[in-house]
Amino acid sequence: MHSAVLSPYHIEVNSSFFDTFNYFFLILLQFALLRLIITSGIFQLLHYTWFYKTRKVSYDLIQSSQYIREIVSDLINITYNSAMVAIAIATGFIKLKSNYSITEALASFVLLFFWYETMFYYGHRLFHRPNFFWIHRHHHLSVTMTPWTVLSFSLIEMTYMQISAFSLVAIYSYFTHFPAETMIWYFIVNSVWNTAAHSNIELLPKSFPGLSNWIIGSTFHGLHHAERTGNFGLFTTFLDKLHGTDMPNYKNKLQQVWDFRLTDHSKSKSS
Ligand SMILES: [Zn+2]
Ligand SMILES: [Zn+2]
Repeated sequence: MHSAVLSPYHIEVNSSFFDTFNYFFLILLQFALLRLIITSGIFQLLHYTWFYKTRKVSYDLIQSSQYIREIVSDLINITYNSAMVAIAIATGFIKLKSNYSITEALASFVLLFFWYETMFYYGHRLFHRPNFFWIHRHHHLSVTMTPWTVLSFSLIEMTYMQISAFSLVAIYSYFTHFPAETMIWYFIVNSVWNTAAHSNIELLPKSFPGLSNWIIGSTFHGLHHAERTGNFGLFTTFLDKLHGTDMPNYKNKLQQVWDFRLTDHSKSKSS
């Protein structure tokens, strides 16, 4: 039996597989549930404020059936993710540590950020090819995004995402244990940023338009959901720019969102 005061990564290696699995599964599940409720909940609450009217990306009506489908999908994926990560830890596939320098913490964070960005971009492009789109179709059932679209993926696509993130942690673990807080902080940044991009609320500031050249917000990803022809990046536009897959109508649409001009276009669905 593990003491409740033990932090997850201090768990003793002589614990049985099932003890370790149960311990991490429950912690990860609770953490992921809290994350969903807090981040998606806050963005959902913003939908009922004045701010939403000034930064709304799409005016298309969202059916309640979409919310139900997405939330069910989110809950299934949270459970699946928590179980898979708990298995990866319990089997020693990934190893975490709590003692490391601030330099290692920052370097491993940057490494994980760009590793996952790269794996996501190329995987995402592959899933948009006709032969592979069945894997990604579930996510695109949401043509207009909500804060709950963020984890609405098929289990096969979720598996690809897990392999993408944890392959780096596993390779790193082969040489030395991976900083535990880096994983936690990356998970938080990923959750908040990804929910923001799916929130249907543009948070990129009009006063610093240069940011929108490199940082992905809800207008950028909303165009991907609406038209599916480009904008495959996760958080940055680097790879879209490198491969010429950034959608040419993005800047125009962003300006319309910033200027509240989309209200006039809402019924025509034009972008
Ligand atoms: Zn897509
Ligand atoms: Zn999406």
